[in-house]
Amino acid sequence: MSYLVSPDSRGLLSYGRVYVFQAEFVLNNSGTKKNVRPIIIPRPSHNVSRDEISRSALKVLYRLHKSGFQAFLVGGGVRDALLGLHPKDFDIATDAHPEEIRALFSNCRLIGRRFRLAHIRFGREIIEVATFRAATDGSEKHVDVEHDHEGRILRDNVYGSIDEDVWRRDFTCNALYYNIADFSIWDYVGGVKDVERRKLVLIGDPDTRLREDPVRMLRAIRFAGKLDFEIDDSVQQSMIRNRELLSNVPAARLFDEFLKMFQAGHAGKTFELLRKFDLFRLLFPETDAEINEDEQFLEFVRMALANTDGRVAQDKSVTPMFLLGVFLWAPVRKHAEQLRAKENMSVVQSLSMASFEISGLQQSRVSIPRRFTTPMREMLAMQPRFDVRRGKRALRLLEHRRFRAAYDFMMLRAKCGDFDKELAEFWTEVQSQGAEQRAQSFDLHSKSTSSRRRRPRKRKNPGTGQT
Ligand code: ATP
Ligand code: MG
Repeated sequence: MSYLVSPDSRGLLSYGRVYVFQAEFVLNNSGTKKNVRPIIIPRPSHNVSRDEISRSALKVLYRLHKSGFQAFLVGGGVRDALLGLHPKDFDIATDAHPEEIRALFSNCRLIGRRFRLAHIRFGREIIEVATFRAATDGSEKHVDVEHDHEGRILRDNVYGSIDEDVWRRDFTCNALYYNIADFSIWDYVGGVKDVERRKLVLIGDPDTRLREDPVRMLRAIRFAGKLDFEIDDSVQQSMIRNRELLSNVPAARLFDEFLKMFQAGHAGKTFELLRKFDLFRLLFPETDAEINEDEQFLEFVRMALANTDGRVAQDKSVTPMFLLGVFLWAPVRKHAEQLRAKENMSVVQSLSMASFEISGLQQSRVSIPRRFTTPMREMLAMQPRFDVRRGKRALRLLEHRRFRAAYDFMMLRAKCGDFDKELAEFWTEVQSQGAEQRAQSFDLHSKSTSSRRRRPRKRKNPGTGQT
């Protein structure tokens, strides 16, 4: 790749014909290091082109720059462009304070307490602009920085310069700054080299950095899955030592991370890595317990993940409720059986109740908004209805507003032997049939089904099925 750098015998790095001294630095625990000068890679020596940056992000960068502020593209936008991937998400870092940013953009909203950020909206695209922050190592008592007793950062709103901002970023590959003033890249931490080596290296002492924010463990896994990078050994060891700290992270924050891990096209690989580091258990404990006992369920989960990745690759829509339903399916089914053993309930009722209770339990780890849990419960409770292929009620299933998702779910079950294959085919075929053909398929004209239909619909004791 054209941007690659290589040290020569003098320890100098060459970027095309430009020679620069490699930044040498020894970091203290938090990664903070003052007076470090970045390697500046001029435009002709790297491959980050403005064509790869969205027009909205460019607008924001130029407006900040023209107003006298520093403006850099940072994070995934630079990393992915270097890798020749087409970045979709653009983060901007600047020395302008949030209020100053708001004054420049009428479409700007300030968000966040933990980190105060500016969101600038262009139609459906949001450009996130962060003011440079000073790094803290936990020992300094800043007015607007707060840690919990494990060292987790609760609030971090002390503004600083780019020289300070760089140390609080997570991985070296995420700490590259593209300067809109001259299109150069500023690299303080050897990030370009690590992109080239495809290594995820935490800035500073891994234990401190993971204690500050245990979500960085999930980010390591997410980037390893997405970029096909190797997690540096020092980070791997630290993840093993610190994994239990993930339980301290608020469930609400983990839903966002769940979406990024499982809906970005690399869910399969992410899942295997989460299991390898025993982090999946901390996110989905009920699912993890079932997976370890039930090979068929593990297969089901893997197929669903592959299916989701396939859909993302084809630009088809994906909904988190489907995967959540997959994750919770075995625990819900088990719990439904227990409910039926205790009380007189129909299979559908027990599944609905069980999915309510199991998703409630799940909320304490990864909070799931109700707009996803409600359809998920419906989708799971509909499953036994696919067992019935005769009569009007069976026919009506085709009109159900959740039919599509429930059908896809059932097909996946059939694929891994959890549902009768021939019956699955029946449900596929009837979808393309006309009214008369359907009447035959569902046996609507036969006496036995029509007499069954005469049963009064509302009885005090549902469950008996007798007239
Ligand atoms: P992508 O957008 O592809 O998911 P990204 O690296 O841009 O990857 P974002 O979550 O958009 O990730 O964050 C932007 C940048 O902010 C990161 O590259 C990193 O420098 C910094 N950052 C984000 N989250 C953290 C964190 N938890 N700890 C430290 N730095 C972080
Ligand atoms: Mg990003």
